[in-house]
Parts: sequence; structure tokens; C-alpha cells
Amino acid sequence: MKSVGNLENKHILITGGASGIGAATALLVASRGAKVVVSDQNRQQGEAIVEQICAKGGVATFIAADVSDSDSVIALFAQAKAAYGPVNVTINNAGIDHKPTPMHLVDDAVFHRNVAVNLAGVWYCMKQAIIQMLDNGGGHVINIASVAGLHSAPTIAAYSATKHGVMGLTKSAAVEYAKANIRVNAVCPSFIRTPMVENVLANVDERVRNAMIKANPMKRLGEVEEIAGALAWLCSDESSFMTGQSVVLDGGMLA
Ligand code: NAP
Repeated sequence: MKSVGNLENKHILITGGASGIGAATALLVASRGAKVVVSDQNRQQGEAIVEQICAKGGVATFIAADVSDSDSVIALFAQAKAAYGPVNVTINNAGIDHKPTPMHLVDDAVFHRNVAVNLAGVWYCMKQAIIQMLDNGGGHVINIASVAGLHSAPTIAAYSATKHGVMGLTKSAAVEYAKANIRVNAVCPSFIRTPMVENVLANVDERVRNAMIKANPMKRLGEVEEIAGALAWLCSDESSFMTGQSVVLDGGMLA
């Protein structure tokens, strides 16, 4: 009998896999036997994560892609298929945020860039993943949304709007493709200690920094391993009856 959490025979593609949540997840799922495509726009860091995986005996390859560019995503999925066969699980994780700012002062360009990466990027990746999964008899699409995709997020409205959009794509696609054996779920973290959040914390005053860190009943940031663990479970067949849902990992923030 296979051990709990075994991911052998899974080909898992992770966008934004060079940093933060994506990198921690790539390392964990590779350690459980998955063949991993680490994709990112940051080649140097992405290749470093692949080196770490291979040094521990795992199987991984790096493929550069910009998720905001449809052609780049098409090329990514074609190269991933050439490397390890059809993708079984895709984790649409690449994302950006923006400086906390009152909504009426946010540049339109910032709004459009958030939409291009966080929403259109997930859209392009979902389409390519679903094409391969339909051909292959099924699969699992996992979108990284946010608690900001489930409730209000004052001063990060543009980011929050894209994450609400990701929730809409997740739920609609889950119902649309359930009969095709394709599951679609989301993960919604609150503030997690990653370069994205460290960057925000470094650029706000102490009062805001403390409020962010203590924004949940546990009064701390989440750690990337706490998100990667849930993602590894989702990637496994142990989550087989779950679709159209979100796993909220927020230290109790939304309770
Ligand atoms: P991170 O450490 O900044 O990692 C994100 C990675 O995505 C980076 O390597 C980044 O490259 C890459 N990326 C950005 N734009 C891209 C593009 N157009 N194409 C390909 N790669 C791109 O961020 P993280 O905190 O781990 O966040 C991962 C996901 O979790 C994001 O979707 C984020 O919205 C979501 N999330 C994070 C938190 C949190 O508290 N950290 C909470 C809720 C949700 P560069 O470094 O070159 O930009």
C-alpha cells in the first residue's frame, strides 16, 4: 500500500515556483515523489529551486514563463508535456500585489497589471491545463487565491478584485468539468511570510505592520510550509471528492 501523501506518478506544474509559497510547495511535493515543473519569470531563482530538488534525489525541471502572456503560457504547457507527459496537477500560484493605497489614488496601470498577472494569468493557465487534462482523462487545477478573494480588503482593492475573480473561475470551472474528472479548487491564505509580504511590511509604518502581523486570532504570520502542506494534500488522491471549494489558511482571520 502506498504511504499517505505519496505523489509518485503525479506531474505537478507550479507557476511562481521560484519564490515563497510556490518554492516551498515545489520542494515538498518533489520530496513526496512528484515530477515537478517549476515555472517562473525569475529564471535564476527558479533554477536554484530545481537544483535543490535534484540534489535531494527529486525530479524537477525549470521552464521560464510569463503568465500574463498567453503565448508564453501555451509554450510552458507544451514544454511541460514534452518533459513529463500531460500535467496531472497545476498550481496556479504566480501573483503580484500592490502597495496598500486608498482605492481612488491607485494608478490604473497598477490595477491593469494586477488583472493581467493574477486573473488573466490564472485564466491562461487554466485553459492550457484543462486542454491537457481533457485529453488525459482528468486532473486537478489548484488556484492560489487569498482571503482577499473572500472578503473585503481595504487599500488593496485591485488585488482583492483579481482574487475574487480567481474564486469565480474556480467555482465555475469546477462545475463545468466535474463530469470530465477534472477537479478545480482554490487555496486562500492570509498573510504568509514570503518575499511578497516582507516587501509590504518593510514599506509601511509600525502601526500598520503590527496590524498586518496580528490580523488573525493566532497573532502571527503564516509560514510557507503551512501552505505547502495543505497543497501537497490537495495534490494527492486523498482530496479526490473535493471540487469547487477553497481551503482557507488564515490563522482564524475569517472565523
Ligand atoms: P512571491 O514570494 O512574490 O512569489 C511569487 C513568484 O511569482 C515570484 O517568483 C514572482 O517573480 C513570480 N511572478 C510574478 N509575476 C509573474 C508572472 N507574470 N509570470 C510568472 N511568474 C511571475 O509571492 P508569494 O507570497 O509566495 O505569493 C504566491 C501566491 O500566493 C500569489 O498568487 C499571492 O497572491 C498568493 N497569496 C500570498 C499571500 C501571502 O501572504 N504571501 C497571501 C494570500 C495569497 P518576481 O519575484 O520576479 O516578481
